[in-house]
Amino acid sequence: MPFKCSKPYPHPVETLCHRPWELAVEPFQVSPQTYYVSGQKWVGAYLIDTGDGLILIDTGIAESVYLLVDSVYKLGYQPKDIKAILLSHAHLDHFGGAAALHALTGAPLYMSKEDAQFMEACPEETELPHDLWHVQHIHIDRFFADDEPLTMGNITIRTMLTPGHTIGCTSFFWQETNPETGETYSIAMHGGVGANTMNDDYYRTSRYLTPDLRQRFLDDAEKLKAIHVDIALPSHPNQIEILDRVGSYTHRTQPYLDSTVWADFIDERVRQVRALMKP
Ligand SMILES: [Zn+2]
Repeated sequence: MPFKCSKPYPHPVETLCHRPWELAVEPFQVSPQTYYVSGQKWVGAYLIDTGDGLILIDTGIAESVYLLVDSVYKLGYQPKDIKAILLSHAHLDHFGGAAALHALTGAPLYMSKEDAQFMEACPEETELPHDLWHVQHIHIDRFFADDEPLTMGNITIRTMLTPGHTIGCTSFFWQETNPETGETYSIAMHGGVGANTMNDDYYRTSRYLTPDLRQRFLDDAEKLKAIHVDIALPSHPNQIEILDRVGSYTHRTQPYLDSTVWADFIDERVRQVRALMKP
């Protein structure tokens, strides 16, 4: 299925806080060992069954944690099976549920050192104060190191610092094998691509992010595109359309398998960032 994306949902925080059923989505499988579990359609969260414990990538916001926990149970797991919680970047829509999930699972929280420092120094840009959502502060237990992959069970996740959207935005790369065909797939989730923090208006008021991060994002794009990815997962599901195939996964059909999607997705995000740059 070729690359498709759609516009972000209007007013997602208000909707999730007041009418969560409008954005609710059942958990669904995306690859041999990975499931979409945020329980909501605005922000993605992925659960990887390593065969020896679960890895959770991102958490959504505190107000939607119950949907995520419900997703874990619906897939036949228990929250305590989660052994590591990886956070893609220091924005509350991705780490807002981390305090509750850490308390529930005991799993260590991982983030880049760069974004942990950003979160510490700059709550107005990371916790994004809002009338409706609740901020639960977190303590990061472990920092990512790009030269030290995280291995659990039969999964090894490599991280890559991909600054731009935030200073320490981190992308994740791992491989899974199809138990029916024996094929191995390279899977990736880009940690954050929103152009909302890469425009001149943002930089004018930011205490922390500077235009060189945008340049780094643009410079890194070619390097990222050159990485072979068979299954590309979005941090927000509108950025790579995956909700149109909910519930259709089988090991045989692999509805998310398409090695052209990753590069097209990076191209689209570069185009969006350039469109916001002043001529
Ligand atoms: Zn973000």
